[in-house]
Amino acid sequence: MGRLRILGSGTSTGVPEIGCTCPVCTSTDPRDNRLRASSLLHTDDAVILIDCGPDFREQMLSASSFEKIDGVLVTHEHYDHVGGLDDLRPFGRFADIPIYSNAYTIAHLRARMPYCFVDKVYPGIPRIYLQEVEAGQAFHINRTEVLPLRVMHGRLPILGYRIGGRVGYITDMHTMPEESYEQLKDLDVLVINALRPEPHPTHQNISEALKAAGRIGAKETYFIHMSHHAGLHADIEKQLPPHVHFAYDGLEIDF
Ligand SMILES: [Zn+2]
Ligand SMILES: [Zn+2]
Repeated sequence: MGRLRILGSGTSTGVPEIGCTCPVCTSTDPRDNRLRASSLLHTDDAVILIDCGPDFREQMLSASSFEKIDGVLVTHEHYDHVGGLDDLRPFGRFADIPIYSNAYTIAHLRARMPYCFVDKVYPGIPRIYLQEVEAGQAFHINRTEVLPLRVMHGRLPILGYRIGGRVGYITDMHTMPEESYEQLKDLDVLVINALRPEPHPTHQNISEALKAAGRIGAKETYFIHMSHHAGLHADIEKQLPPHVHFAYDGLEIDF
């Protein structure tokens, strides 16, 4: 058994967007406030953070507990998914934290945060280390199995993850190879991106996300990475098929 907490359900700008006065950005429904996409997963034996965007600090301040993070799964190096890694500093008091991603992302993180990966480190820096993983090659965080899978973010190959056999987490997906669909069979929970109704060159829109979700056929599917163009939570939720939901910040899913 486990629990997944949606820390952020928004696209790269977050919702509300700065300066926007549209009905979604001015909505008083808290489910229409969307921090940058990230989730925290508790399995039987591990606490796993998926992506660590620029809202991580705020997301942790509103969390009910402060506890050890056993590993961070990074999908790709875009700022909205890694901008909060420096704020892992307080978590270093429990143990050094492994950051898992593909070779391309690891190289970008090393270049972007050089002060974390030099021999003589400044006191107080985040105690993180980089672990390269590859699509199709399963590994473990404690005893929890993690399978990275290939996702295409436009032309950029990034990673999705199947965790503990039961949860799939896919963000910033435009397309996915056949193999990845195979690797996502028989899930209890699927979290997958759905940007807005209109098409986008590097992200699925809502109808593409519905098609992918239908094909994967998880028991429950939750959409994330929505922009303000996706509409009001209360309206959209009614239009979705059974077992497909718009996630919102703070949502907790038991599986
Ligand atoms: Zn993104
Ligand atoms: Zn807006």
